[in-house]
Amino acid sequence: MSDALLKAEGLAKAYPAPGSLFTKQRKVLAVDGVSISVRRGETVGLVGESGCGKSTLGRMLLGLEKPDAGRVIFDNDVMPPGNTRAWRRLRARIQLVYQDPLGALDRRLSIAEQVAEPLGIHGIGEPERRMAQAATLLARVGLSQQHGARLPHELSGGQRQRTVLARALATSPELLVCDEPVSALDVSIQAQVINLFAEIQQQFGLAMVFISHDLRAVRQISRRVAVMYLGRIVEEGTTDDILQAPLHPYTRALVSAVPNVRKPRTRRMSVAGDPPNPAERPAGCDFHPRCPLAVPACRNLRPLLLNIAGGLRKVACHLVAENEPRQAARAQ
Ligand code: SF4
Repeated sequence: MSDALLKAEGLAKAYPAPGSLFTKQRKVLAVDGVSISVRRGETVGLVGESGCGKSTLGRMLLGLEKPDAGRVIFDNDVMPPGNTRAWRRLRARIQLVYQDPLGALDRRLSIAEQVAEPLGIHGIGEPERRMAQAATLLARVGLSQQHGARLPHELSGGQRQRTVLARALATSPELLVCDEPVSALDVSIQAQVINLFAEIQQQFGLAMVFISHDLRAVRQISRRVAVMYLGRIVEEGTTDDILQAPLHPYTRALVSAVPNVRKPRTRRMSVAGDPPNPAERPAGCDFHPRCPLAVPACRNLRPLLLNIAGGLRKVACHLVAENEPRQAARAQ
């Protein structure tokens, strides 16, 4: 028996490259061999630039996207195929919080009706009690009965995201997958909403996968962080370790961009250029065209994701493997 609530093993997903839909000659590997686990009550941050595959990974964790390879295990059972009865039952235990709350809500239904809706879908509670349960959930995320009577467009962005969270909590899930939940919000209220997610996570003992391009958002809520680059995890560790001593050059660049978290002993590093086209993945290390520390081997040999520090940390970089050869062992 594993102590992981959610475990992904070797997930991969490819799409036809633009322009090759009919010829089927080229594929874009959106996610390539990603393994990750989340323990009960734990929040894991998934961070990386736009297009790195983190949202595709999130959708596979939920069973909304079928992996080409690998599998997802939830509570020690392999996740059933999407859209089956068994999968729909499981969805009450795993909920998604979307990036765009307005797009996630029905513009014609009141806020309270939409929060009550999952209770009806999953047959939870007495029908006549569901609106009262919705009011309780709304209060838990800081919204009043007056908010509940309104339509989505009558609320602010932050209030809409609180609504989406209340709706996700309706089925008492054990895991929330939050896909860029604050990126559409005004910067001034992002911190408030992240704090709310953290409070809810602790109060309900939820496990959470928190997906964001912004390491500042991820560090506020996550106990562990996985950094993705071009569909692969390049570094994983506790949030403190990642922020205080990032090992992969890409992680170091991400941490460099976050104010007030760097230790003086860590050299400042920036990353030049845009991510390469996933349809034309470079040979060797995916990051070598942008890496200021690249050595000749980086152009030919792809670094494996290795366990270091007794398995508490994972890094895919030749330089780290060279510096810590005795500690390094291939990650599963
Ligand atoms: Fe940079 Fe080479 Fe490490 Fe890749 S393997 S991150 S190119 S040093």
